[in-house]
Amino acid sequence: MRYISTRGAAPTLAFDEVLLAGLARDGGLYVPETWPTFSRDELRAMRGLPYAELAVRVMAPFLGGRLTELEFAELVREAYAEFDHAAVTPLVQLDQSTWVMELFHGPTLAFKDVALQLLGRLFDHVLAKKGQHVTIVGATSGDTGSAAIEACRDRDAIDIFILHPKGRTSEVQRRQMTTVLSSNVHNIALEGSFDDCQDLVKAMFNDTAFRDEQNLSAVNSINWARIMAQIVYYFAAAVQLGAPDRPVSFAVPTGNFGNVYAAYGARAMGLPIERLVVGTNSNDILARFFATGTMSTQAVTPTISPSMDIQISSNFERLLFDLYDRDGAALADCMARFRAGGSFAVTSEQLSRARLLFNGHKVDEDLTQATMTETRRLTGGMMIDPHTAVGLAAARAEQPNLDPAVPLVTLACAHPAKFPDAVERATGVRPPLPPRLADLYEREERLTVLPNDLKTVQSFVRSQVRRTIVRQGVA
Ligand SMILES: *Cc1c(COP(=O)(O)O)cnc(C)c1O
Repeated sequence: MRYISTRGAAPTLAFDEVLLAGLARDGGLYVPETWPTFSRDELRAMRGLPYAELAVRVMAPFLGGRLTELEFAELVREAYAEFDHAAVTPLVQLDQSTWVMELFHGPTLAFKDVALQLLGRLFDHVLAKKGQHVTIVGATSGDTGSAAIEACRDRDAIDIFILHPKGRTSEVQRRQMTTVLSSNVHNIALEGSFDDCQDLVKAMFNDTAFRDEQNLSAVNSINWARIMAQIVYYFAAAVQLGAPDRPVSFAVPTGNFGNVYAAYGARAMGLPIERLVVGTNSNDILARFFATGTMSTQAVTPTISPSMDIQISSNFERLLFDLYDRDGAALADCMARFRAGGSFAVTSEQLSRARLLFNGHKVDEDLTQATMTETRRLTGGMMIDPHTAVGLAAARAEQPNLDPAVPLVTLACAHPAKFPDAVERATGVRPPLPPRLADLYEREERLTVLPNDLKTVQSFVRSQVRRTIVRQGVA
């Protein structure tokens, strides 16, 4: 198994190299050269497997022999032992055809733990073998940051710098990042938006000298291994609900397009997914794309679902790569136009191909809130967070077009206690933090406020990074 860049001008890499590289050197994103596939019999044999075993089976073909299955199975087992539900990603049924998959049973109460608990362990394992140190830089609109920090804290071979937009994450989100006082964890509150954070991270990667000097790496949603780990729970849900003998559809609250792209990957691997419903908040660039075929950015509007306050969905490039029939040069052209003018359009043929599988719905603030209220009323007490509400409202909007015999699963991407103000406003009840985070508001915080300026951020990284090159496991 080799990986190729969506822009066609970077070397093909093996799994461990892609893991550490993050973004490709030509500015593109890595994707598998070909998708491994599972037969219907192999899918049936996945029914009833414990999550960690299913995960090994689904992900093993992506490793290309760069880790043994035994080594990998141990990392996977450890990663999912951190979850406080035996099923790891349990399903809850709402009505005859509607389900919710809870992805928030990990250490930071959001779905990003599913990928990052594994990613941190994979990094450590691969770096120890190579005797290397990396500097991880990442941008977060809230949840990626805490999940990445939890995955990397106290690991000898890693320094991690996380940029978040100052004042634009919830207090719980901020505290989950800034109360980790480990010496390898560095929180930067940037005076700017999430897109500014993401642009700075990209700029650091595009500065080749800086990138090499720091041995830069990323764990944000462009990292291939994150997509790989997210593919697993689509298999888990689908085989439980009858795949391959019954198809299934998913509604995914979407920001960077990583989570829903993982569903696209699962389908390419043989999972019978009928429809993918993309839910956006008022930052509806993706819903507009699926309606019109034109991608055009607008200013970011802050909402009650801040992890989706995004106008440039970086993982969308992976889908576009296929819509351009994997022509990297054509895609690089398209992305350059997007950079320069803030918009591009696909052909009507490309749009119809995308719409065979995807549809998008914009869910505004009122509907998000009403969905939280209604869900509590209809289920006799279930609370959902605002991101999940966006997904569920999009699912409800799409349902009239769908076959009711096909289960529609909405992804619950965060625990309601991560967004207590919005949930309380909608339901009248303040969702309590689970026991492991009960004292979060009493913990000490540490962060550095920096202006939206590349040079300033780079010198901060230089001044903070621990220079020790750790050589572990070397006899
Ligand atoms: C990150 C996040 C999203 C968006 O996921 P993408 O993979 O960026 O599309 C949605 N909801 C929550 C709670 C998140 O943390």
